[in-house]
Amino acid sequence: IVRLADVHKSFGSFEVLKGISFNVRKGEVVCIIGPSGSGKSTLIRCVNALVPVSAGSIQVEGIDVTDPRLDKLALRRKVGMVFQQYNLFPHKTALQNVMMAPIHVLGQDRREVEARARILLAKVRLAGKEDAYPGELSGGQQQRVAIARSLAMRPDVMLFDEVTAALDPETVKEVLVTIRELAEEGMTCMLVTHEMNFARDVADHIYFTDRGVIVEHGPPATFFASAQDERTRRFLSQVL
Ligand code: ATP
Ligand code: MG
Repeated sequence: IVRLADVHKSFGSFEVLKGISFNVRKGEVVCIIGPSGSGKSTLIRCVNALVPVSAGSIQVEGIDVTDPRLDKLALRRKVGMVFQQYNLFPHKTALQNVMMAPIHVLGQDRREVEARARILLAKVRLAGKEDAYPGELSGGQQQRVAIARSLAMRPDVMLFDEVTAALDPETVKEVLVTIRELAEEGMTCMLVTHEMNFARDVADHIYFTDRGVIVEHGPPATFFASAQDERTRRFLSQVL
């Protein structure tokens, strides 16, 4: 469902991604880990065309993301993204935040959108918080509203970029539970995360990036038990 082939990205003369290739199959959960500045966020932003690639190609469900004539709306319907900063609309309630894109971007029927938004909020365990404003919610609750908001577009793949990095330890868990449930329902997910226990338990495949290349990858069992490369070992010894 996602195909990355020899993806390069430079900012000026600085090459952040130096030829990244891998595929994500339907229903798979892929975790991208690696040191700060290794290009993880850039990579994930390339997948939904927030950042244009310098060379190489990315396809999502048959859409060529790197085509200059890319239909961004079509891509937005297929790819949901949640960031570290949840960026909810502060003057809209949780329910309204979840309803906005389907109504204003897709032009869907308001009553149907509302019914589904309520279901999505219940799914991320926020039933009862529909009318709360972001300022009245904890960080973890806001992040779950952001997840529900992405799901409202019925994406085929969800991208998560360090979505728990800004949260209190107590609320990290509830967000991870939500993502795990999504994964268990078969949602295809690409996550950048520093939560190694989560990666170990939930990922089908782990990619370790350093300075713009994939140094090492594999299913969690092999990846954590027998990392070969010195850089991977050093990283794991710091985070585990
Ligand atoms: P972190 O773990 O800290 O989030 P990361 O692996 O996500 O790091 P990126 O955010 O992808 O790293 O950044 C990789 C490199 O690219 C960094 O050196 C960063 O300064 C640089 N970079 C990222 N975005 C831009 C930009 N828009 N313009 C110039 N340089 C950028
Ligand atoms: Mg990042």
